[in-house]
Amino acid sequence: MLKVSGIDAYYGKIQVLKNVSLQVEEGSIVTILGANGAGKTTTMKSVSGLLKPQKGKIEFLGEDVTGLRPDQLLRKGIALVPEGRQILAGMTVLENLEMGAYHRKDNEVEKDLNKMMERFPILKEREKQLGGTLSGGQQQMLAIARAIMSKPKLLLLDEPSMGLAPLIVSDIFKIIKEINGSGTTVLLVEQNARQALRISDSGFVLETGKIVAEGKANELLNDSRIMEAYLGKK
Ligand code: ATP
Repeated sequence: MLKVSGIDAYYGKIQVLKNVSLQVEEGSIVTILGANGAGKTTTMKSVSGLLKPQKGKIEFLGEDVTGLRPDQLLRKGIALVPEGRQILAGMTVLENLEMGAYHRKDNEVEKDLNKMMERFPILKEREKQLGGTLSGGQQQMLAIARAIMSKPKLLLLDEPSMGLAPLIVSDIFKIIKEINGSGTTVLLVEQNARQALRISDSGFVLETGKIVAEGKANELLNDSRIMEAYLGKK
């Protein structure tokens, strides 16, 4: 579904991604792992159109989408939940969800809003509350729900568990699994390596801007060399 081939990405003159290639099969969950500063967020920015790669190619559903803008990619079915969530703090929960569907022209938005409220009862309960007044976990759920309102084929989640209490983190992973179960392909960036790999089909390990390992999720989980070198011993 997604094929990234040999991309280089820069911030000004500083090269952050070096010849990064990765693939995401339709229907799967794929995790990108790596230490702080390895280039995980930069990879997500490149795939979602926020940063243009200076070399290499990005293909989505067989089409070359290299260099397209985020709004163009959203219309093609790639939605990003950025690191730090970035919900609209001054808008209500309902308005945030509606914003997720702003570009849709079909007449099922209302129906999907209702479905979203069923799936996330806490959002229904707080429908009229301002986004910025929700707890961290609730904001993450809102950010994910808003992205789903765009009806993505591929959902990019950048550190969805960041800063959340362990119990909420488990909820978030459960939700990601459910979203995938209902047909959305997921590319995930996570520091919670083990938990992420447990719900994933495959994984890629980034180190200082390069892919240094890749494989099936269970192979990575059972590879003690990789777990110790890149993922911590926990
Ligand atoms: P983290 O988990 O800490 O977010 P990451 O793997 O997502 O790490 P990136 O955010 O992709 O890493 O950053 C990769 C490198 O690029 C880092 O060295 C970082 O300092 C640098 N970098 C990130 N954003 C910018 C920017 N806007 N301008 C310049 N350098 C940047």
